[in-house]
Amino acid sequence: MRIDPTGDILGLVDVQPTFMPDGELAVADGDAIVPVVNCLMGRFPRAFATQDWHPADHVSFASQHPGKAPYETITLPYGPQVLWPDHGIAGTPNAALHPDIDQRRVEVVIRKGCDRQIDSYSAFQENDRRTPTGLDGWLRQRGFTRLFLCGLATDFCVGWSAEDAVRLGYAVVVIEDACRGIGLPVRAGWTTMDDTRQRLLARGVAFITSDKLG
Ligand SMILES: [Zn+2]
Repeated sequence: MRIDPTGDILGLVDVQPTFMPDGELAVADGDAIVPVVNCLMGRFPRAFATQDWHPADHVSFASQHPGKAPYETITLPYGPQVLWPDHGIAGTPNAALHPDIDQRRVEVVIRKGCDRQIDSYSAFQENDRRTPTGLDGWLRQRGFTRLFLCGLATDFCVGWSAEDAVRLGYAVVVIEDACRGIGLPVRAGWTTMDDTRQRLLARGVAFITSDKLG
């Protein structure tokens, strides 16, 4: 697959220490993507990044709901919400972009989940499905038409971002070896990883590995 230097952009979704093995919401093997992302960064002329950026009392934290444990689901005004360990707390070192990421080509950083009452998995829209992050406007005004997504976690923030991007009219490619997933069990033999992959394929998202980029 050839990279178009004018219409293509690399998107780094939540490449933050908080989601890596020593972080608060650890994604298994999450730090393995850092060298792959840096290699990709040398191939794309432009990149954007997102950061999960929560107040310390964010509604998605199990600690804010007495009697609830991380990974349980509750119902919020905008629908079901998985509860997480406290993570991505605005201004803390673990919420920064990973210090080993080469940021020279990152032209814009979108921070999401800033509103205490609303979680935000997607790079484009918060979980109430109404509040935009502003990324669509930036990409559109700059003329980008195809997004290559990498980051954490495949089955939440990368997956939701890919789905919204397709809905907004972008071509979307997920670079699988530059992503890792959480993989919550949802039913016997399946995980949210399988669900995410099937759902995205059905919507026209392409999956490739980084060695397939020309
Ligand atoms: Zn979060």
